[in-house]
Amino acid sequence: MKFSLTSAGIPLVTFVALILIAAYIDTSRMSRHHVQERSLAAEKLDRQRERLENRLYRGMSNAVALRSFVLSSLTTDQTINNQNFTTFASTLPNVEKTVLGLQLAPDAIIRYVFPESDSVLLGVNLLNITKDNGTVQRAIVDRRMIVDGPRLLSQGNQGLVARLPIFMSNNQFWGFSTVVLDFDRLAIESELNVVVNGLRLAIRGKDGRGSTGEVFFGDAELFSLDSIRQDINFHNGNWQIAGIPVSGWSGYWPGRNLFLAASISLSLLISTLIWRNAQHKYQLSLNEKLLRALASEDSLTKLANRRTLQNHLDVEWKRAVRMKNTLALLMIDIDYFKDYNDHYGHLEGDKCLCLIANTIKAAAKRPADLAARFGGEEFVLVLPDTTLDSALNVAEKLRLDILAQKIDRDDAAPMDYVTVSIGVASSNPSAEVEVGMGMGMGMGMGMGVEQRSRHSTRLLLEEADKRLYRAKAKGRNRAEAADV
Ligand code: GH3
Ligand code: MG
Ligand code: MG
Repeated sequence: MKFSLTSAGIPLVTFVALILIAAYIDTSRMSRHHVQERSLAAEKLDRQRERLENRLYRGMSNAVALRSFVLSSLTTDQTINNQNFTTFASTLPNVEKTVLGLQLAPDAIIRYVFPESDSVLLGVNLLNITKDNGTVQRAIVDRRMIVDGPRLLSQGNQGLVARLPIFMSNNQFWGFSTVVLDFDRLAIESELNVVVNGLRLAIRGKDGRGSTGEVFFGDAELFSLDSIRQDINFHNGNWQIAGIPVSGWSGYWPGRNLFLAASISLSLLISTLIWRNAQHKYQLSLNEKLLRALASEDSLTKLANRRTLQNHLDVEWKRAVRMKNTLALLMIDIDYFKDYNDHYGHLEGDKCLCLIANTIKAAAKRPADLAARFGGEEFVLVLPDTTLDSALNVAEKLRLDILAQKIDRDDAAPMDYVTVSIGVASSNPSAEVEVGMGMGMGMGMGMGVEQRSRHSTRLLLEEADKRLYRAKAKGRNRAEAADV
């Protein structure tokens, strides 16, 4: 359970965290990209706007110049006639490029035109021709220049008509100075095109009506798209120019797909590595547990091994000291086992060893009892809190149990069944400690608890072994609890 939580949880959390970081980076780069893309387009649009605005101003300034001509003629009492008008008009710097024509209309009636080819306009009353849209009327009321168009002129060009109302020093309306500009020419001069610098462009605001005016240049669709827009301002009105990249807004920052693919792969890789590492650690801990289990028992008989026996003896010895109990043990050895092996072979010998081991294990009845393989065909049964007499009883019962199994033998041994000899010993650890301390000898003063326990249990094992030897000497198949 613990394994699945740590092994699946941590890599998963890591994966999610890494993906969230990547998503955060992506989102912030995305918005930065949007801002950059729009501001780059805005810069281009601004340059275009500036060029167009400059040309417009330059063109319209001709109307202002004409007004100065009129006002200075009035103050010097010089009558305006065709000759001095034409002379003045032809000296204006912009005449050849964007200006299609210049007019003076005293009392709103066209009286002077330049060039002369425009003479068809002479006598036209501006108040009549602009009745419908009221632009001339508006100019007189507002006292400001108005810009008509662009619209198709009789010459076939798209023209812009800028009319400037002129007021005399007594504030009386004198008439109009008018400049007619060639919009197509204006576009060429200001490098205006439907696509400039990768931007699609459109302009609206016919008659200077700004965002409410008609689209007169480029694709009207641009004003329904997410385009960037800027105002082009002139004397008494404005246009609006819109721009959008030819292939639209890109949406994604460059390298985004690569970044996302790399982020996902890297997140997967890192979480997999963490997962593999957790699994590896878990496997190691399993192996460790297995090794520890293997190291604590004998591989053939599955009884406790020598190491476990010693640990158990240490624990029980200390408990016996504390509880002032006795500690007994049996040293069990199969009789004439070499003959058995020689006769039946090693594998049969192993089987017999296991049978005996199981019987010994069954004799370890209490929780603190422990059956161990001491080595070869020798076993030890530890019996805590057991007197020598009781241990002898256990030994005798065990001996009979083994005999009762009737493991046949037809080898050189002088008996018909497998038997064991048992040496029985017991000690009184608390008394030993007290005696040791009383005598001020090594066991009491110089030794630590561990050493004392080792020393004492070794003596106990040696004693049991000595008695086992006696049992053998006395003819085997017996339990011996005394030294003499
Ligand atoms: P005794 O009655 O004096 O104990 O005689 P014995 O033959 O049992 O004693 P000895 O020490 O001469 O021989 C012990 C034999 O136990 C030697 C060996 O063949 C056998 N033996 C020891 N360990 C194993 C084992 O793991 N498997 C088998 N099959 N035999 C073992
Ligand atoms: Mg032996
Ligand atoms: Mg033996």
